Amino acid sequence: MFSYDEPLFRPPAEAYSAIIQATLGCSWNQCAFCEMYASKRFKVRPIGDLIAEIEALSRAFPDARKVFLADGDAFVLSAGNLLPILQNINRCFGRVQRVSAYSMPRHILSKTDDELRTLRENGLKLLYIGIETGDDELLSLINKGETSQSSIDGIRKAHDAGIDTSIMIINGLGGKQFSHQHAVNSARVINRINPKFLSTLTLSMPYGESHFRSRFQGEYYPLTVVELFEELRLFLGLAELNNVIYRSNHVSNNLILGGTFPKDKESILDQIDRAIEESPRGQYPVSPSIL
Ligand code: SF4
Repeated sequence: MFSYDEPLFRPPAEAYSAIIQATLGCSWNQCAFCEMYASKRFKVRPIGDLIAEIEALSRAFPDARKVFLADGDAFVLSAGNLLPILQNINRCFGRVQRVSAYSMPRHILSKTDDELRTLRENGLKLLYIGIETGDDELLSLINKGETSQSSIDGIRKAHDAGIDTSIMIINGLGGKQFSHQHAVNSARVINRINPKFLSTLTLSMPYGESHFRSRFQGEYYPLTVVELFEELRLFLGLAELNNVIYRSNHVSNNLILGGTFPKDKESILDQIDRAIEESPRGQYPVSPSIL
């Protein structure tokens, strides 16, 4: 039997997936808003250990249909390192239908078209990518290490190889000063990507606002709950998407939303409008604290 190297994170949609920690931590680990892997040093795990875990997990969960490769950006692994992991997953999990992982756009761009297609043929069908914002100024201020263009190029390259993407945007990421450009430019980028899945999370500050301010390289003034809804309304109102499944169901969200664009767009916007009307002005969201 084996145990996970904690903390372990996975997307909500991978709640029933078998999880293999192909890497530990995050190879970047520098985004201003993210504390997920602050306690971990990035590490690539030996393939021998992974094969033993894949075999043990497949015995424990023989009916698993989905496998998720953790930790923070397992797709940083080269195609040569990912391929034997996928091959062993296919060998051991008789019913697996999809393997997925978190990725940064540059990890896609660093692989060739042929490599991406080979990974897709071996079951890697979905990448979760937190582009966070489509605004280049804000991307720089949060130290994301990506640009709007690298996000567009990387994600389109994955799509061209047949790999689907699930894209995350952070509501409230730049506070009051950057709210408008964050919404407008995130819509601009998401419209050029048209991912299979889109989700919005809300900025949370588990170590408190002053800790976030010390890492954010600009002026940060938090949004009230109503201002968060207004920013989300602007972003989604500008989203011109084709058959994209949208979810706002993360623990950080103040309003649970879901549907498919464009079919459910008006209904989602109506729900946000109602929330704006019914919420008290001046109220700030509560971030979970770990201090
Ligand atoms: S790349 Fe992802 S996991 Fe890594 S620090 Fe940034 S947000 Fe966190």
